[in-house]
Amino acid sequence: MSRPLLATIDISALRHNLTVAKRCAPQSKAWAVVKANAYGHGLARGMRGFADADGLALIEIEGAVRLREWGWQKPILLLEGVFELADMQVVAEYGLDIAVHCDDQIRMLEESRPAKPIDVHIKLNTGMNRLGFKPDVIRAVYERLRAIPGIGQIGMMTHFANAEDADNPGMPLAEQVARFSRATEGLAGPRSLSNSAGTLMHPEVQAIADWIRPGIMLYGATPGARSAEQFDLRPAMSLTSRIIGVQHITAGDAVGYGSRFTASGPMTAGVVACGYADGYPRHAPSGTPVLVNGVRTRLLGTVSMDMISVDLTGIPGAGIGSEVTLWGEGLPIDEVANAAGTVGYELMCALAQRVRVVERDDG
Ligand SMILES: *Cc1c(COP(=O)(O)O)cnc(C)c1O
Repeated sequence: MSRPLLATIDISALRHNLTVAKRCAPQSKAWAVVKANAYGHGLARGMRGFADADGLALIEIEGAVRLREWGWQKPILLLEGVFELADMQVVAEYGLDIAVHCDDQIRMLEESRPAKPIDVHIKLNTGMNRLGFKPDVIRAVYERLRAIPGIGQIGMMTHFANAEDADNPGMPLAEQVARFSRATEGLAGPRSLSNSAGTLMHPEVQAIADWIRPGIMLYGATPGARSAEQFDLRPAMSLTSRIIGVQHITAGDAVGYGSRFTASGPMTAGVVACGYADGYPRHAPSGTPVLVNGVRTRLLGTVSMDMISVDLTGIPGAGIGSEVTLWGEGLPIDEVANAAGTVGYELMCALAQRVRVVERDDG
């Protein structure tokens, strides 16, 4: 018998969530973002679920090569471009699009003299101050790229710091959009701006964009502001397990490492086969929501490497073998992440190698 912990990946949910993204931006093409092993869902599953996307975007060049080998023929974009000169050969051979965010990457393009035309996307730093060129050098960058033999189409892209919190005074969304528009005015080439939050909440941005770049929403989690369900997103990953042990405890009894939860009266604690070595957040405190037999209950005490304890008190029929949902259908990953002081992104990306994965596809 295998350990009962299981991640179920719902391919139909991936497909559905992509249609939600496309509905938000009916005039735009969509790069489905599949970095980090499709946010922990498996790159091949991402490719299948997003078969209708206009392109796939990721960070890892090895993943891009695999996508081509598996038969993906539409565009593939490397969101951070290349990391060294040798990558340029792979980019040309496999027909990858690349972001260009710094002078070093322009130099690599100049030196590599690609045999086949490479489509590039100039990354603008419009206020996030992570990757990208400042707006005032964009025209010079564009001209320099144009002059390189073997450059195909030149696109322009930027990334939002606060699309889920557009009025953030640190950098309002509208300011980033205005800087982008001004810097790229009159330059020919496709433009892409919106991540999930931009796609879901800012239709006005889509008016100046040719492509969107949704990630988290495609996996059924929310980038913020509203719940996934309110955005009509369906969870693509459900992490489920079973109760493997039961303890009947009384007032004053403590549970788990550090004795951080103490019972105030008689109660039943169930042990779930799932711990931080599976990707469950170690910092989740007592009270973090869990479902047992479909009933919402709470985590008790410290998360162990292979187990957690949960409160079974008053749950009809709960005992060894009872079904547990850690997140997914019936329990939004965002709620669990929120309780643990993190984001759904981190939980799904951290799903551990040892967790068995099964697929579901309801068409
Ligand atoms: C990860 C990423 C996205 C997707 O962001 P989400 O918040 O997951 O929608 C879009 N663009 C770039 C450049 C990224 O790195």
